[in-house]
Amino acid sequence: MGSDGKKPKLIITVPCYNEEKVLPVTAPMFLEKLTSLIREEKISDESSVLFVNDGSIDGTWDIIKNLASGNRHYTGISLSRNRGHQNALLAGLMEAKDRCDFTISADADGQDDINAMDQMTEEYLNGCDIVYGVRKSRKTDSFFKRFTAESYYRLLNRLGAETVYNHADYRLASSRALKELASFGEVNLFLRGLFPMLGFKSSRVFYERRERIAGESRYPLSKMLALAFDGITSLSVRPIRLITAAGVILALPAALYAAVLLVLSLRGGGVSGWKAAAACVCLIGGIQLISLGVVGEYIGKIYLETKHRPRFIISEKTYSPDEEGPESGNL
Ligand code: UDP
Ligand code: MG
Repeated sequence: MGSDGKKPKLIITVPCYNEEKVLPVTAPMFLEKLTSLIREEKISDESSVLFVNDGSIDGTWDIIKNLASGNRHYTGISLSRNRGHQNALLAGLMEAKDRCDFTISADADGQDDINAMDQMTEEYLNGCDIVYGVRKSRKTDSFFKRFTAESYYRLLNRLGAETVYNHADYRLASSRALKELASFGEVNLFLRGLFPMLGFKSSRVFYERRERIAGESRYPLSKMLALAFDGITSLSVRPIRLITAAGVILALPAALYAAVLLVLSLRGGGVSGWKAAAACVCLIGGIQLISLGVVGEYIGKIYLETKHRPRFIISEKTYSPDEEGPESGNL
């Protein structure tokens, strides 16, 4: 609830990268949901939709500016360049955290069922600080995407990184939770792994994920793999331990084998089989290289973290910096 007993103020945070085909369709859907929540007196009339333009190279920012000048419930910020979904979302959440009581983050493409926001808001009003949007099923995904995504969640949890199964970035977060999130200064961002770390009272709302309304996924396989690898290495150090274990498992029999060979040659028997030896060398060499790569990944992350570079730079807003929100009008 708002601190002075008023209706709580909601900011729906929507990262957008080259979404000119999609925004004209989905923006009114967000607005309609916002106004219906206002009508039902669940949220304050000062609530808004905040679009984050993630350095789009199409007309996305112009569309956002037009929306903002046409309706006081639409606002937007623009990043100075493309920083990726996670950073764009963080920029929106950090922008929103001091200007509202709670946020709901959703993708611009309408894949996350906007109607789930009613139940999310209800959970917030019942005292939850974080509400995870969880996909009921993955019917709209290809078999490949479904299989890889589900295996990935399992792997993450096995590796000790706590995440909510089938939850991506459709979630409600109170400003209290976001203010705590602000102290997580990491540049290797994997937000869905950070929210469970915050604690607070949380719950889940289930929804059906739809097909993209228009345009193409900005997550081709290469980006999905990168996000998956980032997720594991920024939340867990278990891969390093697995390497050590693999090293021990390989080295012990190898040492025994070498001892046997030594005894055999001391007894005067000839030791043959250079092919087997070459294969062993290659196998171990390969494993060592993979291991080095994984360790290198962590070192790379440490390198990036120590620089403390800003995660995003906001270059423009549809409102002036000291303005409080939609009630102060638009540019
Ligand atoms: N997005 C972004 N920056 C990027 C890539 C994507 O802000 O560099 C936004 C995009 O506009 C969308 C959300 O992140 O609102 C999710 O992207 P997408 O729908 O392409 O991913 P998918 O749903 O296929 O996983
Ligand atoms: Mg999408």
